[in-house]
Amino acid sequence: MMNRSTMGTRAGLARVLAVLVAALTLTSAPAHAQNNDALQIYLVDVEGGNATLFVSPEGGSLLIDTGNGGANADRDVGRIMAAVEDAGLRQIDHLITTHWHGDHYGGMPELATRIPIRHFIDHGPTVEDSARTAEFLDNIYPGLSQAGRTVAKPGDTVPLAGVEVTVMASGGEAIRSPVSGGGTPNPYCTTFERQAEDRGENAQSVGVHLAFGQFRALHLGDLTVNKEFELMCPANPIGTVDLHIVSHHGLEASNSAALIHAIAPRVALLNNGTRKGGTPGSMTTLHTSPGLEDLWQLHFSVLSGQEYTVPGVFIANLIDDQATTMPLAPMPQPARGSNAGPPPVHNGPAHWIKVEARRDGSFTVTNTRNGFSKSY
Ligand SMILES: [Zn+2]
Repeated sequence: MMNRSTMGTRAGLARVLAVLVAALTLTSAPAHAQNNDALQIYLVDVEGGNATLFVSPEGGSLLIDTGNGGANADRDVGRIMAAVEDAGLRQIDHLITTHWHGDHYGGMPELATRIPIRHFIDHGPTVEDSARTAEFLDNIYPGLSQAGRTVAKPGDTVPLAGVEVTVMASGGEAIRSPVSGGGTPNPYCTTFERQAEDRGENAQSVGVHLAFGQFRALHLGDLTVNKEFELMCPANPIGTVDLHIVSHHGLEASNSAALIHAIAPRVALLNNGTRKGGTPGSMTTLHTSPGLEDLWQLHFSVLSGQEYTVPGVFIANLIDDQATTMPLAPMPQPARGSNAGPPPVHNGPAHWIKVEARRDGSFTVTNTRNGFSKSY
């Protein structure tokens, strides 16, 4: 009896283990393998910097920016790698660095130690007088990018397998011919108000348009308003988009109606930080954008406050999640051109916003903090 019972228990245990192993094998399969005909987009939380990962059904990958450097490199690159691993990637095929500000290129040296990066795309030399960035571009970037580097020109395409990626802006120049669906007069140009000329790096941003079947998305880095006008007026070269990754963390130096209202996104994603971006003027432009169905935020923004923010289900990282006792006020930003990034604010768990886009133009956005998900 004892033996039979033990045997029976062992056989039962073996069956349970077999089921568990099968279940674990299934859940650890790469995300793109489970959604093998969707374009996956990860808006990674790099605390008010930028890191946006695109993974095509063919397994091709494009990362736009690498988050903050200095004391924050380990944190931000860890978060990028979590998305990379979720997508089952073994390399980054293409890395676009939109411009040479520390919240956009700072994490690059650290990231390159963790995963091979095959192709580096940027707008060319920095236009800012920053010793730190000059040191990076002279002494570090050439070694990192020796696998392949392209200085992007408007109209160039990025060979991301399965997705048409067109450079719309780079080095202060805008594309001169429309992408398919663009080319009509832009009615929002007449009310445009020019700002003081931006002679810094933001205006140099590499901006791209992505087409995947019927699905359209736009990411313009930190491109500022006068450059938006030069891109969008008098004719809109883009037409409308399904998804807009909001420029410049939602700051008012970018995000004119001439851009936002003309491209009329169905959904906008804001890569803001707790104390960076999501300012009332930009939020108003977004909230009044014709046809906007939802705005999603990477963080609750103290600059938006309760007045301009969206419901918490659309926010990936709430103020309560902040492992900090710092006062809820805007924080001084590091000097222009510094790659030190803002002082560490939040080093605890962070959540990304995930988009799965389908060829028919439909897509689903998921807040990985709370599992809230909505299809468009
Ligand atoms: Zn930025």
